[in-house]
Amino acid sequence: THVIASACIDVKDGACQKVCPVDSIYEGGRMMYIQPDECIDCGICLSVCPVQAIYADDELPAVEEAFRAANLEFFGPA
Ligand code: SF4
Repeated sequence: THVIASACIDVKDGACQKVCPVDSIYEGGRMMYIQPDECIDCGICLSVCPVQAIYADDELPAVEEAFRAANLEFFGPA
């Protein structure tokens, strides 16, 4: 999956949502979230984010680690 991290907070530009081919990006609260079961890892959202808030999950910086769980939790228990 891909993970949206801290840079999105209070930005929510939404460019990612428009380009995601499987509509796996959702707006909630102060940021956008990626539904991990729907994301196909195409990487398109990453390239259009104006604040570089999106990471492939295996490239998520250590300081942004909490957002892995935050994206998961937004969608509730599997
Ligand atoms: Fe959507 Fe592709 Fe981004 Fe996953 S990586 S959220 S499928 S645009």
